[in-house]
Amino acid sequence: MQQMENLLRQIPQVDKLMQNEHIVNSGIYRHEVADAARDMLSKLREGIKAGEITELPDIAELAQSAIQHAKEQACKGIRPVINGTGVILHSNLGRACLSKSAVEAVANTAASYCTLEYDVEKGARGNRTDSVEKYLQEITNCEAAIVVNNNAAAVLLILFAIASDGNVIVSRGELVEIGGKFRVPDIIDRCGCYLLEVGTTNKTRTADYEAAIDEKTKAILKVHSSNFKIVGFTESAPIEELSALGKKHKIPVIEDIGSGALINVNKYGLYDEPLVKESIKKGADVVSFSGDKLLGGPQCGIILGRKEYIAKMKKHPLYRALRADKMTIAALEATLRVYADPQVAECEIPVLSMLSLTGEVLQSRAEALCEKIKEYGGVAEVIRTKSVAGGGSVPGLELDSYAIAPIGAKSADEMEKALRAQSKPIIGRIENDRYLLDVRTFFEDDYEYIADCVSKV
Ligand SMILES: *Cc1c(COP(=O)(O)O)cnc(C)c1O
Repeated sequence: MQQMENLLRQIPQVDKLMQNEHIVNSGIYRHEVADAARDMLSKLREGIKAGEITELPDIAELAQSAIQHAKEQACKGIRPVINGTGVILHSNLGRACLSKSAVEAVANTAASYCTLEYDVEKGARGNRTDSVEKYLQEITNCEAAIVVNNNAAAVLLILFAIASDGNVIVSRGELVEIGGKFRVPDIIDRCGCYLLEVGTTNKTRTADYEAAIDEKTKAILKVHSSNFKIVGFTESAPIEELSALGKKHKIPVIEDIGSGALINVNKYGLYDEPLVKESIKKGADVVSFSGDKLLGGPQCGIILGRKEYIAKMKKHPLYRALRADKMTIAALEATLRVYADPQVAECEIPVLSMLSLTGEVLQSRAEALCEKIKEYGGVAEVIRTKSVAGGGSVPGLELDSYAIAPIGAKSADEMEKALRAQSKPIIGRIENDRYLLDVRTFFEDDYEYIADCVSKV
C-alpha cells in the first residue's frame, strides 16, 4: 500500500514532462504531445492502482512513449496508401490518382492567390471555368461547359435548372442506385420533378418515350447503367434516336454517362464505354460525367452541352453551392491540357497508363518485384490474375493482370492485416485463401518500400 502511494506520488506532472528535451525537440505540435502524455499518465496511474505496474519508467522513457503515442494518433487521418487491389478506380481509395502536372497545378494555386475569377488582361473580374471550358470545347466539340463538385451534384443542378416542376422521362432499365444512396428516382423527386417511367427493366424503345411525352414533359434523361449489366434479351433507345425525338418535341435530352471517357478506351478492353464526344455528336443536349473516373482528374462533375441550358445552370442559385474550388479547377485544367494528344494523355494520366499496361509488361513488373523481395530476404511468386477498371465503368469486365503472392509462415488473413498496418498501408486482396498484390495499380516508385514491407511480414 505504502509502495503504491509512493509510486503514484512519483508520477510526473504533465507540465514537467512537457519540458523534457525529447519532447521540446520532437517537432510535433505541443498540444498533441500534451494530450498523448495526459492519456499515458492516466493509464500509468490506473496500472499502479490495479497493482499491474510496480516500477515507474524514467522520465526520458515516458517522454519517448508520449511522442510515439502522439505520432500514431496524428497519422490516423487521410494519408497515402498503396493500392494492390488491381481496382484502378477504387472509390474507397480516392479513385483517380492525379498526373504530375495536375499535382503541380494544385500545389501552385493552393498556396498562392490565383486567377480563379480574375482576368489579368482586362484587370477585371473573370470567369472561373473559362479555361477548362475552352479545353472541353476542343476535346468534345461541345458549345459550353460548367464544373461542379461531382457528377451527383451535376445531375442535381441539371434537373433543378431545366426540369423543375415538370416531368422527366426515364427508362425503367435505368432507374439505378449509383452508390452512397444516390438513387435516380429519389434524385428526380428531390429536384422537384416528377419521374415518368417508361418501358420495362430489360427493354425500352424510343416509341415508349414518345408515347409518354405531353405538355408537362421537361426533359428526357438517359442514365448509363454504370455498375450493373443486364444480359440477354435487352434493348435500349440509342441516344441519336432520343435526340431526334427531343428535337421534334422541343424537349432537352440529358445523358448522365457516368465515367466520361474523353478518348476511346476500347483498345484497353473497355467496350461499351460511351465517349463524351460521341454523345455530343449524336445530339445529346446536356451530358454529365465524373472528373475522377476514366478522365483521370480530380473529383468533380462536368456538365457539357448546349449554351442555352448551360447558361441557365450558371445563373441558377444552386450553382453557387455546388461549384468547384480553385484546386479542383487547377487540377482539371492540367489534366485536360494533355488530352489534345491521346498518346501524351496515356503517358501522363495514371488512370490511362494503368489501363494501357499489357500482360507482358505486367508480368515483367511482377517478376522484377519478386526479385526485389528476394533481395530483401523474402519470398513471393508471380500469379496470373484479373483486375477491374472500377468506378462503375464496364461492369463485369476484367482485364488480364499479374499479381505477386507472398509466401511465408503467416496465413493470408494475417498477411493482409500486417501489410495494412504499415506506416504507408498496403492494401491487397485475398483470393482462394491466398494473399495477392496486383501490380497493375502499383507505382514503380513504391517497389522498394513494398519489397521491404512484404519481406518483413
Ligand atoms: C459514378 C456515377 C455517378 C456519380 O458520380 P460522382 O462523381 O461519384 O458523384 C452518377 N451517375 C453515373 C451513371 C455514375 O456512373
